[in-house]
Amino acid sequence: EGRRLAKLANAPTRTRDGAEIALLANAETPADVAMARARGADGVGLYRTEFLFLRKRALPSEDEQFIAYRDLVLGMGGLPVTIRTLDLGADKADAAGLVLRGEDNPALGVRGVRLSLRYPAVFTTQIRAILRAACYGPMRVLVPMVTQPDELIAVRTLFKLARQELKRENIDLPEKLPLGAMIEVPAAAINVRALLEHSDFLAIGTNDLAQYVLAADRGNDALDNIYTPLQPALLRLLSHVISAGRRAKKPVSLCGEIAGDANFTALLLMLGLNEFSMHPSQILHVRDRLAALDRAHLRRHAAALLRAHTHEEVAAMLAAVAG
Ligand code: PEP
Ligand code: MG
Repeated sequence: EGRRLAKLANAPTRTRDGAEIALLANAETPADVAMARARGADGVGLYRTEFLFLRKRALPSEDEQFIAYRDLVLGMGGLPVTIRTLDLGADKADAAGLVLRGEDNPALGVRGVRLSLRYPAVFTTQIRAILRAACYGPMRVLVPMVTQPDELIAVRTLFKLARQELKRENIDLPEKLPLGAMIEVPAAAINVRALLEHSDFLAIGTNDLAQYVLAADRGNDALDNIYTPLQPALLRLLSHVISAGRRAKKPVSLCGEIAGDANFTALLLMLGLNEFSMHPSQILHVRDRLAALDRAHLRRHAAALLRAHTHEEVAAMLAAVAG
């Protein structure tokens, strides 16, 4: 089994009926990057920058961040990388005193882009590091926890100001740097067309989207019967977001845990997803699963699946159409 999978490292990613699917890596460490390349990832779909900030006594400097981002780009050898701006707060708290303390409901509090916009100087340091690193290879920037368009507009303004600053300092700048929103807040998913107007691409974060749609803490095992990706309400939202991206001709990836779980590959194909981002250890498993699935056949059953009333019904339908 191991040897059979290993042979897939250099194979193209295709469904049985020949549909091309992009497999991206969620990668932070040099070991992740090495594994992503060894397994033939098409790029990095999610680079979580929090690790540079968490459990540190001081905030990381611009140069420290620049080196980390540049090494990521260089490590991927010309494949595109997606850097996510700081996503602190909630389950990722306690970064050099930056996180606002004393919130009654941190998961519903000042987290992700909300926090970054409260600390424009800290955010601008990260933005400058990203802009400098983007000269070393193809890069995109992903904004976490977006709820409404004004947040994306504010981020774009900060990027524009940082560009002007760097230009005055005679520092090289990338020509273009696509900016995208994470879709992980229910309002963002429902009102996705408004966010698409301000996004070059989207990345769906099902870990948080499921938590917020189901009002079920993503880390609470006692809620396993509620917190499942098979929930009809979640599936309808995913389908809505993926279709809206297709109509707007903008790429949509999915980078929550389910993208790397071969048990859900058929489900995501059914919903029309064609970019999966996962921990690099999962790439061969998902590539293997995709090769056994007929996308056209699955797509024909999507409408019926989206009419299911319960997650048990979804599970039964999936088993019937995808084995
Ligand atoms: C998500 O919410 O699905 C996601 C990919 O981001 P994180 O797990 O870092 O919150
Ligand atoms: Mg998230």
